[in-house]
Amino acid sequence: MTTFVLDQLMAAAQRLVNSATRVVCFSGAGLSAESGVPTFRDAQADGGALWVKFDPMMLASPRGFERDPEAVVEWYNWRRRAVAEARPNAAHRALAAARSIVNVTQNVDDLLERAGAVDVIHLHGSIAVDHCEHRCGCVEAIDLKNPLPLRPCPNCGPRGRMRPGVVWFGESLPDDAWMAAEYACRSSDVLLVVGTSAVVYPAAGLIGLARMSGARIIVINTQSSDASALADVELIGPAGEIMPGLLS
Ligand code: NAD
Repeated sequence: MTTFVLDQLMAAAQRLVNSATRVVCFSGAGLSAESGVPTFRDAQADGGALWVKFDPMMLASPRGFERDPEAVVEWYNWRRRAVAEARPNAAHRALAAARSIVNVTQNVDDLLERAGAVDVIHLHGSIAVDHCEHRCGCVEAIDLKNPLPLRPCPNCGPRGRMRPGVVWFGESLPDDAWMAAEYACRSSDVLLVVGTSAVVYPAAGLIGLARMSGARIIVINTQSSDASALADVELIGPAGEIMPGLLS
């Protein structure tokens, strides 16, 4: 694509953002990729990592935890250390600086908050907590630099183990986060869809919901994705390069 066409697309996206009163950003792992937090695809491609022999989709699932709980906890602890070392990138900072934007994220890291964003809805939970696998009510904060190994729940003892406080494939989303995200997307004028393959449901369904409710859709991704077909404007490139200009 020529520079002229890219400039025209950026200008069209800026016009949509500037004329909107309610902008919502729906983000995924690509938002944090430039901070060094691997997407699931990067994790699979990382030949140096132990995890190359595991499928992240299996590790991020109740079945994976049943099959090999130690491997799951170790994998999350590897991810936790990566998040602890990461710093918010230019895209996180641009979103945080645009105070009126509501962030609906599939990310389980805290990089938007560390950039200063105040309105963040986490659809898939947080990597910074563990909870009892039986949801007895026991929740523990985790030091991301020094995460804890697999251990029993202090309430349930050997009958229950502590597990990462994230939503795994096949699990329901937290009701409060889902309702807040649905409301935000339904009432948005513009939905920015940033760094997501848009294949994980029900989260990805928010894009269609926003569109049906009248929002214009701007997709920002390094490549085309399942969100491309719903885009009014698609900006292909790294979020850290595109977002500061789009929201300036
Ligand atoms: P995904 O890995 O399926 O897709 C990532 C998308 O980001 C891809 O479409 C890729 O082309 C794009 N991308 C990569 N680098 C980019 C960049 N610099 N700028 C813009 N786009 C870029 O991730 P997903 O759609 O979020 O869905 C997978 C699930 O993985 C989610 O449920 C999420 O909870 C979980 N996850 C979270 C994190 C995190 O919290 N940082 C990291 C990995 C996976």
